[in-house]
Amino acid sequence: VRQAWWCEQAWLEDGPVGEVRIESADGTITSVVADADPRPGDEHLRGLVLPGFANTHSHAFHRALRGRTHGEGGTFWTWRERMYAVASRLDPGTYLALARAAYAEMALAGITAVGEFHYLHHRPDGEPYDDPNAMGLALKEAAAQAGVRLTLLDTCYLAGGLTADGHVPLEGTQRRFGDGDAGRWAERVDAMRRSRERSPGALVDDVVVGAAVHSVRAVPREQLAVVAAALDGWTGDSDPVPVHMHLSEQPAENEACQGFYGMSPTALLRSEQLLGPHATVVHATHLSGDDVATLGASGTTACFCPTTERDLADGIGPARALRDAGAPLSLGSDQHAVIDLFEEARGLEAHERLNTLQRGRFAPAELVTAMTSAGHASLGRPRAGRLEAGAPADLVAVSLDSPRTAGSLAAQVVHSATAADVRQVVVGGRTIVQHGAHVLGDVGMLLRDAIEPLWEDG
Ligand SMILES: [Zn+2]
Repeated sequence: VRQAWWCEQAWLEDGPVGEVRIESADGTITSVVADADPRPGDEHLRGLVLPGFANTHSHAFHRALRGRTHGEGGTFWTWRERMYAVASRLDPGTYLALARAAYAEMALAGITAVGEFHYLHHRPDGEPYDDPNAMGLALKEAAAQAGVRLTLLDTCYLAGGLTADGHVPLEGTQRRFGDGDAGRWAERVDAMRRSRERSPGALVDDVVVGAAVHSVRAVPREQLAVVAAALDGWTGDSDPVPVHMHLSEQPAENEACQGFYGMSPTALLRSEQLLGPHATVVHATHLSGDDVATLGASGTTACFCPTTERDLADGIGPARALRDAGAPLSLGSDQHAVIDLFEEARGLEAHERLNTLQRGRFAPAELVTAMTSAGHASLGRPRAGRLEAGAPADLVAVSLDSPRTAGSLAAQVVHSATAADVRQVVVGGRTIVQHGAHVLGDVGMLLRDAIEPLWEDG
């Protein structure tokens, strides 16, 4: 299938360019020409066309927590209690409905690929479903129906926490998360990687099966080595398998790790060969200067989740220092208090400003890179997130004449646009969002129908 779009303005490499013609064949861009006249049959895209956005850190089921964790003081622990309450109620059917609605909300916001940090694996008592990947397959189906590319970051989660005396066992709802040991985790992920099940109603059918280590709190050192060996085995001669890890979100993690291992979480991950260009650390909030240098030198991506980090009172991580040290930056909506990558991008810059009393810590183009190409690379899609030949035909048209964006320079619209200004989204050449509406219909209704039953008598 050949297609062509004519864009009033499009974001090429470093910024916006006028009158751009984009052609694609079978979902891949074949040519991009600036200062071009439209041709008959071209679809016209108004406003500014950006490459599809990458949301590199999602826990889809946390979407059910939005606007429900701020009562009774709203501490981190009241949030976690509510999160476990939702986690205990989901089964493959309700998980599919919730994730499909959350991913449709992402599509509305211009997100064309999501990294799902997936640890809700087993039955509430910890026993596997008949297909041990039933919950992962529900996510795959959800993304296919919502029209979003999925990188399933299947998460090794073995312990309930770390103290200076060692790891504590999983208990209560956490039993759903664990596979017993990293060998059994790898066997299950291997089966998922070989699964060829296709979704009949798919708008987009594109899944990368990657890996995650929940954190050094949840995976003991000798098991980290098993994960690293599994990653080597899967890589073979294809693109490296992406691996993501929560890192130093709270000071307590650093203290426990230092107390038990005598080193920081970053140093521990390096010693187990888990850092590198295929790796992404999430949050990276409380780091020493040595940690920053280690992450940068290894080319590990740092995924910041500014709306979550402020919602949970985590603190502000050293984003500029990491970038300067060599770490690419990506963005995630994590617990989905907000699903809006413009807001995450602005948060990256705004938190730096508050911390340093300086403006202009990141140029607008650097923020767009974090939303697009750097994010897709972190999800195992190195060609995506650019408007150039060979990249997937994933396009996001943003209005430049909405009440929020009118008068803004296209080059700086990342500082004024919101998810509500995304008018059209194309994934693999297929229009998923048109005139600000998802092809699935009313996404607010889908979310309500998926979320309200989870809270009945709870
Ligand atoms: Zn997370």
